[in-house]
Amino acid sequence: MRLLLVEDDDMIGAAAREGLRQEGHAVDWVRDGAQAEAAAANGVYDLLLLDLGLPRRDGLAVLRSLRAKGHEVPVLIITARDAVSDRVAGLDAGADDYLVKPFDLDELCARVRAVLRRRAGRSSAVLRVGELEVDTAARHVRWKGHDVALSAREYALLEALADRPGAFLSRAQLEERLYGWEEEVASNAVEVHIHALRRKLDPALIRNVRGLGYSLARDG
Ligand code: CA
Repeated sequence: MRLLLVEDDDMIGAAAREGLRQEGHAVDWVRDGAQAEAAAANGVYDLLLLDLGLPRRDGLAVLRSLRAKGHEVPVLIITARDAVSDRVAGLDAGADDYLVKPFDLDELCARVRAVLRRRAGRSSAVLRVGELEVDTAARHVRWKGHDVALSAREYALLEALADRPGAFLSRAQLEERLYGWEEEVASNAVEVHIHALRRKLDPALIRNVRGLGYSLARDG
């Protein structure tokens, strides 16, 4: 998934970005509220991790403004403000969840997974498509009952496709999911990962239609 991290504390931001990258997410990091609002408005993100105490524009003001403009991107607030009234204000402003600093990276990653799952209308962490099983909590894939070892990018790509079987994602959409701003993307990166997935799973599992992109066969 493509995440926008909004955090002005260098240490917390670096730790969160690293932890989320290890989960296979593409993470873009901005350090003030004005940048956050501009970046979030382009609609490319699957989730925002939003600090509240920020330079230039308060996180709560950013959230209210995004919601007022109709942006429905899931928002997980991460802040040191732990008063009940702050949490209530954050949730009422349209946040999906709220995590108080200091937090544990494992909990952050679990909350991100839970918010993404709820937004996709699922209660289980396991995606099942035909004979394919993608465990989004363990980041583990089984095909026809056998464990399959995938690289972090291969996994992220497969999860994106398994999230909406039958739907087509273009190469550009997949690149956006897989790579953040600072990462170099080889022009054939998506094709290379698709090739590896077809080899490790089944050549017929992922379809490619010219002009539409890639999709996972509904029957797995
Ligand atoms: Ca802050």
